[in-house]
Amino acid sequence: MNHGRSILVHACCASCSCYVFPHLAATYDVTAYFYNPNIHPEREYLLRLDEMRRIAGRCGVRLIEGDYRTLRWWKEIWRYRHLPERSERCFACYRHRFEVSARKAAELGIPLFTSTLSVSPHKVFDRIAAIGAEAGLAYGAAFLAEDFKKRDGFRKSVEGAREHGLTRQDYCGCLMSLEEANLRRAARGG
Ligand code: SF4
Repeated sequence: MNHGRSILVHACCASCSCYVFPHLAATYDVTAYFYNPNIHPEREYLLRLDEMRRIAGRCGVRLIEGDYRTLRWWKEIWRYRHLPERSERCFACYRHRFEVSARKAAELGIPLFTSTLSVSPHKVFDRIAAIGAEAGLAYGAAFLAEDFKKRDGFRKSVEGAREHGLTRQDYCGCLMSLEEANLRRAARGG
């Protein structure tokens, strides 16, 4: 275990985390925070949480499980629900999860936080960095703006997920992204 500076890592799923946890653990004392009330339906949430417990255990990372108060998340997203992925819909989703994560880091006395979200090529890194910095400023924890997909991070996460036998979801998490994935599947003929 590294005994350097502590960091709270907002962890969206096990497949992104299986690369980010060991990568950060080389420099920091890592605490993972699973706060993802965006995930729909609940059985998918429980599946992702179960995999997160497994990967945190294998990486020797302490895991804090956030609550699953979906109404609280919907309140922030509702007005943007008709917008596509990579729009204000997702930026509001980043914002909500980062604000709660920054507050959790401050509450635990952890000076730094980040998110595994930047592993995904579907996420907008500039907005992750800006929204993370704003949330950090508001709650008193600095945001580590690292684009984890870089330096082959995305490829390593795909390989790591395969090695650990993790599920690679074909939708980001929310109801809208599930419907979008269903439409893509239907367009491909099933
Ligand atoms: S697609 Fe992903 S990031 Fe965008 S709103 Fe849905 S869960 Fe959040």
